[in-house]
Amino acid sequence: MSFQRPGTGFTPAVPCSDEVGGLACALADADPVEIIATALRTVGPGQLCLVSSFGTESAVLLAYAAQVDRSIPVIFLDTGWLFEETLAYRDTLQAQLGLTDVRSIQPDAERVAALDAGRELWFSDPDTCCRIRKVEPLARALDGFDGWLNGRKRYQGGLRASIPVVERDRARLKFNPLANLDRVGVEAAHKAFALPDHPLVAKGFTSVGCMPCTSRAAAGEDSRAGRWRGKGKTECGIHTLLSTV
Ligand code: SF4
Repeated sequence: MSFQRPGTGFTPAVPCSDEVGGLACALADADPVEIIATALRTVGPGQLCLVSSFGTESAVLLAYAAQVDRSIPVIFLDTGWLFEETLAYRDTLQAQLGLTDVRSIQPDAERVAALDAGRELWFSDPDTCCRIRKVEPLARALDGFDGWLNGRKRYQGGLRASIPVVERDRARLKFNPLANLDRVGVEAAHKAFALPDHPLVAKGFTSVGCMPCTSRAAAGEDSRAGRWRGKGKTECGIHTLLSTV
């Protein structure tokens, strides 16, 4: 699929003379396929994975990655609190895009039994719930990889508003191939790839995570406004807390 360079003029915060900054500067206006192909060349085949929630905005990154290499491992965090529709969407996209290595990762059963036997941690301490169900399992799943792809976009705002195309994540490189796209660009790609919507989009959900922490966003709200509503929490920690595991 052809893609028009967004030409965002975004300037990475790290100097271009820095190793990672140089890559970020070189890819500052690159399209998603260029970024993914460069990521694969940079870290090497078998060393790059993609992390996906198979949520409402996940399909476009998966489709671009499939254009580059359908065998890139896709890590999916099955927290034990996901909607059945999300599990079905994972299977639909896997089949449609021909993804050959989708890995569904579960939390450590002993950690969950010790800290959340009553399944109420999402309410009493959502940060710890995300830690044992998402952050710790992802840290384990990323062992053995030198780089990972994720689908954050700057237009999503908050901590995402200033993400570069590539950044360092402990010993790994972390690529944000969709960082440069705006909402119109993502929607255009979704249509051009003929991707199905997440089944809950038709029921009014603009962003979907775990059941207890997902609600519909009202008209005019940010797409992620329905996540952890009323909790003062906007991120699960996989982009902010991996280094603490
Ligand atoms: Fe727990 Fe909610 Fe985080 Fe899911 S999103 S891991 S249910 S706090």
